[in-house]
Amino acid sequence: MTLTVESEPTLRTISGRRLRDLVLDRTGDSSLAHEVDVVSQVLPFKVSSYVVEELIDWGQAPEDAMYRLLFPHRDMLPPEDFAAVEQAMREQDRAGLRATVDGIRDRLNPHPGDQLALNVPQSEDTDGWGLQHKYHETLLVFPRQGQTCHSYCGYCFRWAQFVDRSDLRLAVSGPEVMTQHLLRHPEVTDVLLTGGDPLVMRTELIEQYLRPLLRPEHEHVQTVRIGTKAVSFWPHRVLAGQQAEDLLTLLSQLVDAGKHVALMLHLSHPAELATDAARRALRRLADTGAVLRSQAPVVRHVNDDPDVWARLWKDQVRNGIVPYYMFVERDTGARRYFGLPLARALEIYRGAVKGLSGLGRSARGPVMSASPGKVAIDGVVQLHQGPAFALRFLQHRDPELVGRPFHAVFDPVAQWWDELRPYSEHDREFFAGAAR
Ligand code: SF4
Repeated sequence: MTLTVESEPTLRTISGRRLRDLVLDRTGDSSLAHEVDVVSQVLPFKVSSYVVEELIDWGQAPEDAMYRLLFPHRDMLPPEDFAAVEQAMREQDRAGLRATVDGIRDRLNPHPGDQLALNVPQSEDTDGWGLQHKYHETLLVFPRQGQTCHSYCGYCFRWAQFVDRSDLRLAVSGPEVMTQHLLRHPEVTDVLLTGGDPLVMRTELIEQYLRPLLRPEHEHVQTVRIGTKAVSFWPHRVLAGQQAEDLLTLLSQLVDAGKHVALMLHLSHPAELATDAARRALRRLADTGAVLRSQAPVVRHVNDDPDVWARLWKDQVRNGIVPYYMFVERDTGARRYFGLPLARALEIYRGAVKGLSGLGRSARGPVMSASPGKVAIDGVVQLHQGPAFALRFLQHRDPELVGRPFHAVFDPVAQWWDELRPYSEHDREFFAGAAR
């Protein structure tokens, strides 16, 4: 008997001028379309046909949460920058527009958390560009062909990967960069393929990175993680066609060989799990033996509501996903639009978990993935000199600092690690090297 494989629907993506036309067509609002045109000169935006038709409630746009996540808004740029881009566009001054846009991008902190200065391996005889080795046991790999996504999130902290500036892009030239590094670093137990979204790559390319991990010399790599938002933006990647079948087979083979395979699903809002396609994609991925985990930042306009997170985590548990991280929006890109005070992020986290069962409470949060490591905000406490944030490193470049409670002076408007100050002398060692 010959097995026939269902053919994969064609992915269509919309960006640039067509994004403006789409907004005009669906909303009839020409000033909204103009904002889309201006802001997308600076920050990258792209939507898949799937999100346009299945995830956005156009009757609610621009207030719809998925619209807010995926489409430009004028407040993403400071007013003076918005006006400068608008003027350069009006004057049809291509060189002036380019210079204006480059200047704004440089001010938007394209590589937060000292990624280039501290995480890219520098001291070896191969080029470590496109690898990040921040923590002892974990290696991040940015495959060159995976530095894009099926759609772009407006809050993406990797936005610099997607703009047409090769100097801002992290990408390994091929899998041998990764394998050479692993040979020299037997302490690495976890490899994370990231981007962008590695699942935009053809399966043959993904195999070139993952099959070598089955060789005896890479036995020390126990866990293979793949960071992806494909279930939300293009679930057909694993639903139909030879590419889907081959990918699922590859994941099964890694599991059968004794690797722990974890799909790190980026899920921002319950709407992403509400489609039949997304739920079927999750079942197919889980059937490979891979573990499904979820993570996303808490951001204004999209999910800054405890009820939204409670629903999101409940729906995840129902669909076999382990809630893993609620992140804080990083200090880059459009944070002026999406960012929240740490105190508010904490309220949202606590408000969300209090109505959940234990299985829904597995997400750690709110967590800042900052330059020294991952910092969890555990609460606000009253100490003898006033209120303080109770903090804890979940990860740190120095493992000795992991898991020890410490405090920062409570600040109701602080949004990021480098705005916090140690509460006492005892807390200073945790802040060593932080800018203040
Ligand atoms: S899916 Fe991830 S990498 Fe891609 S745009 Fe969204 S946040 Fe960025």
